[in-house]
Amino acid sequence: MTITRRTLLTSATAAGLLPMLPRRTWASATLTLGQMQIDTLSDGHLVLPGDFILGGMPQAEMQDILTRYALPTDRLEPPCNVTLLRDGTHTVLFDVGAGPDFMPTAGKLAEAMEALGLTADEVTHVAFTHGHPDHLWGLLDEFDEPVFANATYLMGQAEFDYWTDPATVDSIGTARTAFAVGAARRLEVMADSITLFKDGEEILPGIAARLTPGHTPGHMAFELRGGSDSVMVVGDALGNHHVAFEQPGWPSGSDQDAETAAATRGQLLDQIAAAQMRLIGFHLPGGGIGHAERQGDGFRFVEEA
Ligand SMILES: [Zn+2]
Repeated sequence: MTITRRTLLTSATAAGLLPMLPRRTWASATLTLGQMQIDTLSDGHLVLPGDFILGGMPQAEMQDILTRYALPTDRLEPPCNVTLLRDGTHTVLFDVGAGPDFMPTAGKLAEAMEALGLTADEVTHVAFTHGHPDHLWGLLDEFDEPVFANATYLMGQAEFDYWTDPATVDSIGTARTAFAVGAARRLEVMADSITLFKDGEEILPGIAARLTPGHTPGHMAFELRGGSDSVMVVGDALGNHHVAFEQPGWPSGSDQDAETAAATRGQLLDQIAAAQMRLIGFHLPGGGIGHAERQGDGFRFVEEA
């Protein structure tokens, strides 16, 4: 037996050397698609100043929408849902959560996996939607070792190129400098284990990549197909269940290229609603699984947890 730091920590916990933490219940939603079982695992939630998302929107109309959803406008606490797909051969995570270094309310994926009886070593593939901290920083543990030691990592070529470009840290803007530094550091550690893919590629059986730019330059959604049914893992292309659905054309402060992101949202919602397909959103409520219905000039998110 090889003693790693992780087994030592586990043994210490098992022997009662570390205080027991109170158990928490982790939101998890499930659906099946052909031979695939899909679960969403809670990584916790973010705490954001409202302006980060809502700043550039028409304020009076935005206030009306948030009031209808019983949400404050000064502080938002979006949930974080990591999608897990198991088909008997592959165990795939879509994004890895925030890890230990981003926010105290996030980085809880390990606990959610444990509640499901899944170990990190069982994960065969990790596919990234994009390189923001709440999606990528769970890649390495507190000792800077890969959390998912047996996994193959898959990332869109444009997204990888953007975050590993030394010029990004200077061009991204001061509010996101830490995002750029954090992504570059992690991707550098893992570069040899990352397989790059392009828009439209089938990255694994039944999983097709769909370039959905704007939130970040190379953001990817994933269309999962099982039999005649399909589900779109939208990542942050649909970043919330309120304004992003009701007014997809409004600029959002959380998007790096607001105009491109708005166009992407409109196309994605049109397609998902027309095809009546299910979607899974990283920051959507109820575990993130639902569908989009037309409502007036926009849409609404209907949970299917
Ligand atoms: Zn996010």
